Amino acid sequence: MFCVKCGKDIEQGVFCSHCNPIQLDIKELILSKCECQRYLINGSWKTLPQEEALKALLKKNKQRLHYEETLEHQRKLAAKISYQGEPFIIPIQKKGITCPNCSKKGQYYEAIIQLRDSNEEVIDFIQEKVNKKPGVHINKIEQVTNGYDLYLTSSQFANTLGKLLQEHFGGTVKRSRRLYTKNHLTSKTIYRTTLLFRPHPYKIGDHIEIKGKTVEVTQLGKKPQGKELKTGKKVFIPTT
Ligand SMILES: [Zn+2]
Ligand SMILES: [Zn+2]
Repeated sequence: MFCVKCGKDIEQGVFCSHCNPIQLDIKELILSKCECQRYLINGSWKTLPQEEALKALLKKNKQRLHYEETLEHQRKLAAKISYQGEPFIIPIQKKGITCPNCSKKGQYYEAIIQLRDSNEEVIDFIQEKVNKKPGVHINKIEQVTNGYDLYLTSSQFANTLGKLLQEHFGGTVKRSRRLYTKNHLTSKTIYRTTLLFRPHPYKIGDHIEIKGKTVEVTQLGKKPQGKELKTGKKVFIPTT
């Protein structure tokens, strides 16, 4: 096909990009991405596939641009779009930006999770949950007598972890918080949370002694239970 105005070879449409009387508002798409794999869309950070991020960026334009596909040529990305029936190619510029959550990586922490009488399995469990949560990081793990201290960037997620730990391992969670700082821009109060977790010293199926009787552990969680072996009676296991 050829441009009807200048005769230049074109892939589709009526005009070449130079002669096209329709001009687009946007000359390029800037795709800002953080190392946590989130994209910056209209001022907020979102977890989306790249294609959805491009569509979201196009949406904010006044012209109703229709996304068709992403083209890659010599490591350069471009979006093929259509507008009023004409195809357009808009270059995509990728930008690496650190989101506010990831900029907290390093020294920053909002919560300390104190794991006591806990083994590596508990740390692995936490690590796995944190890895799945964009923007939350463990900045430091300290080995202390009888356990570990984990420094977490999110106080809110520390509370979630407390619940998950108790559900998964059983045990006790003690939470305390103190005023840490006030964000001057949002005047939001930030607390520093300390979460102390101690798993039950037994697992489901273990035989333990309670008041001289042998009990098989049947349930963990906040109120652990067992079954007295001799009588089959349900017993609540006292927690300390
Ligand atoms: Zn032309
Ligand atoms: Zn990030």
